[in-house]
Order: sequence, then C-alpha cells, then structure tokens
Amino acid sequence: MEERGSPDGDLARSLEQGPEGPETPIQVVLRVRPMSAAELRRGQQSVLHCSGTRTLQVSPPGGGPEVAFRFGAVLDAARTQEDVFRACGVRRLGELALRGFSCTVFTFGQTGSGKTYTLTGPPPQGEGVPVPPSLAGIMQRTFAWLLDRVQHLGAPVTLRASYLEIYNEQVRDLLSLGSPRPLPVRWNKTQGFYVEQLRVVEFRSLEALMELLQTGLSRRRSSAHTLNQASSRSHALLTLYISHQTAQQMPPVDPGTPPVGGKLCFVDLAGSEKVAATGSRGELMLEANSINRSLLALGHCISLLLDPQRKQSHIPFRDSKLTKLLADSLGGRGVTLMVACVSPSAQCLPETLSTLRYASRAQRVTTRPQAPKSAVAKQPQRLETEMLQLQEENRRLQFQLDQMDCKASGLSGARVAWAQRNLYGMLQEFMLENERLRKEKSQLQNSQDLARNEQRILAQQVHALERRLLSASYRHQQGPGLTPPCPCLMAPAPPCHALPPVYSCPCCHICPLCRVPLAHWACLPRERHLPQVLDPEASGGRPSSARPPPWAPPCSPGSAKCPRERSHSDWTQTRVLAEMLMEEEVVPSAPPMPVRPPKTSPGLRGGARVPNLAQRLEALRDQIGSSLRRGRSQPPCSEGARSPGQVLSPR
Ligand code: ADP
Ligand code: MG
Repeated sequence: MEERGSPDGDLARSLEQGPEGPETPIQVVLRVRPMSAAELRRGQQSVLHCSGTRTLQVSPPGGGPEVAFRFGAVLDAARTQEDVFRACGVRRLGELALRGFSCTVFTFGQTGSGKTYTLTGPPPQGEGVPVPPSLAGIMQRTFAWLLDRVQHLGAPVTLRASYLEIYNEQVRDLLSLGSPRPLPVRWNKTQGFYVEQLRVVEFRSLEALMELLQTGLSRRRSSAHTLNQASSRSHALLTLYISHQTAQQMPPVDPGTPPVGGKLCFVDLAGSEKVAATGSRGELMLEANSINRSLLALGHCISLLLDPQRKQSHIPFRDSKLTKLLADSLGGRGVTLMVACVSPSAQCLPETLSTLRYASRAQRVTTRPQAPKSAVAKQPQRLETEMLQLQEENRRLQFQLDQMDCKASGLSGARVAWAQRNLYGMLQEFMLENERLRKEKSQLQNSQDLARNEQRILAQQVHALERRLLSASYRHQQGPGLTPPCPCLMAPAPPCHALPPVYSCPCCHICPLCRVPLAHWACLPRERHLPQVLDPEASGGRPSSARPPPWAPPCSPGSAKCPRERSHSDWTQTRVLAEMLMEEEVVPSAPPMPVRPPKTSPGLRGGARVPNLAQRLEALRDQIGSSLRRGRSQPPCSEGARSPGQVLSPR
C-alpha cells in the first residue's frame, strides 16, 4: 500500500494519462544522514529537524530564524536503508522503465553527505567483502526487486547493463575489458546524447548484475580527504536497459550506440566541496575543481529550466559531459528522481542550505515523459509498408520497360530481360579486352622501335664498310702511291641511273643500284642488271654489262674461273645485300597496322628481322674479309690490278 502523498503515489497520478502524458515534475526526496562519530566527538550539533514526512526545518545555531523546506519525502537519520528504498519512489520508476520509459535516479549533495551510502551502502571493508544486506543501498535493492519482477512478468525480457564514470571531464567505461579509456559523447536525433562504444553487458541473474556493480565500484576513482575517507572523485552512471524482445528479435542497431527500450539509470554524483574545507591539494584539487565546474553547469541548467520563458531560452546542456548525459532526465522525455543528501552538522550548514535550495528548485523542473517503445514497435510495420510500396513501384517500372523495349525491337519480354542482364557483363568483357589490346599494341610499338634502331645502325655499318671497300678497290686499281681522284671531277654519270643518289658524300655520286662511283663506269639499267645477279650462268660471254667493277678483288690462285668473273658475281651479291638493307631502312610516315603472324609472341614480332639483318651484315663482313685476304695472297693482275696489301692500309 502506497503512502498518501508519497513520491510513488504522486508520480503514478501524474502519469496516469498515458505514456505521453502531461509535464511531470522531477521528484525530489531528502535524506539526512546521522551525525558521524567524528562530528559527535567534536561536539557539533544537529541543525536539521523533520516535521512530518515531507518537511524539513533548519534551525541555525545562535537562534536565527528557522527555515522550512518541503519535498516529496524527508527521510531522517533514523530511517534505514530499506525505508529509504521503499519511500523514495524508485520502484515506480522501475515499473515505468519496464514499460519503455527512460528513468533516472540521482543523488545530490555536499561531499560526505551520504550520496554513495544511500545508493550503494557503506564502502566495502575489504577486497571482495560484500556489503551486508541490511546496509545495501537503493541500487542493490532495486536490482533484486527488478529481477524478481521480471521473473513474474511471464514475457521474454532482455536485461543489459553499462557502467561509466565522468572523471576530470572524461568518460571512462567501468566495465571495459581492458583498462578504461576516454569515450566520446555523441548526439543524434533519436537517442539524444549517448556515449559511443560503451560496453553494454547482458545479464540474466541478480548475482551477475551484482558482480558488474562490484567491478565498477572497485574501478571507480575515490580518495580520502578531511570530510570523507572514501570520497568519490567522479560522477558514476550505472544504466539498466530493459527490452521486451529476445536478442534474435531485436532490430539491428549500430554497435556504437546504446540499445533502445526502457532504461533505469542510477547516477552517483561526486559531491561539491570547498577546497579549503577538504584540504585538497595537487591532483585532489584538480579533481575538486572539475567536480565543482560540472555541478555548477548542472545548477545553471536547472535554473534555466525553471525559467517560465525556457521554451525560448537555450539550455546549455553541452557545457559539461554530466549535463549532456543528464539532458534527457532533466529537460527531455525522461522520468527523474533526485535524492538530495545533507549532513545534520552545524558545521556543514552553508552547504546544506545550498543543497536544500538547489533541491527545492529542481522539484519544479518538469519533463515530458515519452516511451521510446512506440518507435520500436512501429518499426517492423513501417518497414513492411515501405517494402510493399517499393515492390509495387518496381513491378510498375519493369512493366513499362518491357513495353518500351518490345515496341522498339520486337523482342519477347524474356529476351529483353536476358539482354538487359547480359549487357552489363558484355560491356565489362569488352572493356577488359580493350585494355588487353591496348597493352599489346604498346608492347608491339616498343619492340618495333627497337628493331628499327638496330636496323639503322646495321645499315650505317654496312654503308661504312662499302665505302671503305670502294675506296680500297679504287686505290688498288690505280696502283700504289696514287691517290684516287674524286669521282666528282670525272665525267657526269650516264642517264641509266633512274633513282636519285642515296649514299653520297658532299663531293661524290654513287649509283643507288650498284653503289659504284658514277664517273668510272656506266651502270646498266636495273632491268638489265638484275637477271645477271640472280642467274650468273645466264651470261654466256663477257658482255660489257657483266664486266666486274674495277675495284673488284682479284680471283683466287686455284680458281678455274676467270678471277674477274668470280669477283663480279661476288660483288653483285654484295650489292644486292646492300640494296635489301636499304629497302628495310625505309620508315613509313605512320605506324603500320600490326600484322599478326599466327602464334608469334608480341615481343618478337617487331624484332624478328633484326637477327636476319645482322646475319647479312656478318656475311658481308666475311665476304669483304675473304676478298681482302685473297687480294693479299695473290700478286696483282697484269691488267693493272694492284695487291690489296699495297692499297688497303689497315684502319
Ligand atoms: P558522499 O558520497 O556524499 O561523499 P558517503 O556516502 O561516502 O558520502 O558518506 C560519507 C561517510 O558517511 C561514509 O563513511 C558513510 O559510511 C557515512 N554515512 C553516510 N550516510 C550514512 C548513513 N545514513 N548512515 C550511516 N553512515 C552513513
Ligand atoms: Mg560519494
């Protein structure tokens, strides 16, 4: 049975109109801790007196005017932990969380006023020593109540928990697997502010949840100072997530964001402290400053939320991590319970009055509770509707496309569909083939250029050799000591040379067909000359056209044939080789179309003729060498042929 006027009863009435009911004020209960042994030793007096269940009277020392404060419930030092749990209204919040609401319980007050004690009981007396059940705080009692409640629901409920602390303005995961690292606070439209990548642990039993609580408590920062031997140096937030779906039924969510569903969050704030009173130095002072700053930001937000014009005013929730994470509880869609803790000692009166004023203001702040479950429940239905709409649109578009294509090409619908499916694949294949051909072409081009260069070098070498040979023969013919006259000084060439001179020095002209100086003998026209080259036997006698050039090397001593005839044949052959080289030297103005002999590797196609050319050059060299050797070993002919040894000086 609920007490008349209790926070449970008030909250239940304010939410009776449904999950999206009217504005609901923050519920505030006051807890007055007993005088500590140290305070009693110092002879300090209590300045706080309860009047009924909801009013607190403050009697300043020295007989000043009394001040009264009214809250949802006032729980004096005589009340046990169990009394506090039953009277503060946390069970009602648990019920609302089970219905999908986002609920928050937070303790507030000066350092050493009993906030942590109220939520989790006295500090553990040793490693792994549990808090005695009679001293267990609101959190342990709520856990037990909730687990029991869930067991009797008769419907699947998934329970999970996260535990974090805000220490020196950094969010640290108290349940992280490794050492806690700072986590960012993000915001999105559906969830508001949330901690990214926070570890959320599923639990199925009270023992498992208690273990999570102990893990977090043991990792939370606390230090000793004058007013509290186990002072919390951070704000701690333990959140229970309640979902009425099994893990398989849950819609997929971003792993970095918290789960959707009902929430019950317990916030143990670090207490405001006067650095002078606590004697904090160094790191303790830095922590105290950080705590005070964030509590100041919280107070500022609460003041602005009380402003009747607040709809127009901006609430600076972004000023601190604490106000960001409490934004929904203070001014949003959550249901909030504040447990204000005070010390009865006269020495703490200024801070106590400040807390009381703060708490009084806070209970005038209202929220507009809204269960997020509606959005979750609607999701599958909304998705199904969207899917049906898209399927219908898809069918309609497909039909229109079939109609258009059939009209255009007369193809059947099935073939059109097939063609559409395959078109993309074909396009991809063509692109790949294109790329392959492009590479092959570039390789061909490279090898062709290489071959041309080699060809040019070889042709130049052949030409140089020819010139050398020509000059040697000429000197051989004229006799030792005589310098051959420049052909330019002789008579002009006969008109049988149809082609323009190709190889010519600035002062000499050489027949392009037979490579001889034009002034010395008349070269026959090409049509008469070539048959003799190809068929030397065809020349029966010694026509003038078959006469060897004057620089032809002498015949070998053992040869049956006339040396002149033999040398003529040899030199004609040399000339033909030179001609062939000349023909290969011609470079077309545009790159030729690649002619692909079957099964030839691309790298060899362009260069295939180079070894041939080199062989010919080698043959030419051999020929010249053997001619010269013959010349050296044979005495000069009576017709004036000189020994090559006398003529050709080695170069
Ligand atoms: P806070 O968290 O506000 O800084 P604590 O909860 O740590 O303060 O309490 C400070 C000290 O007072 C602790 O040693 C705690 O055990 C003791 N204390 C607080 N409240 C009570 C209470 N209601 N009954 C007995 N001891 C209490
Ligand atoms: Mg504390």
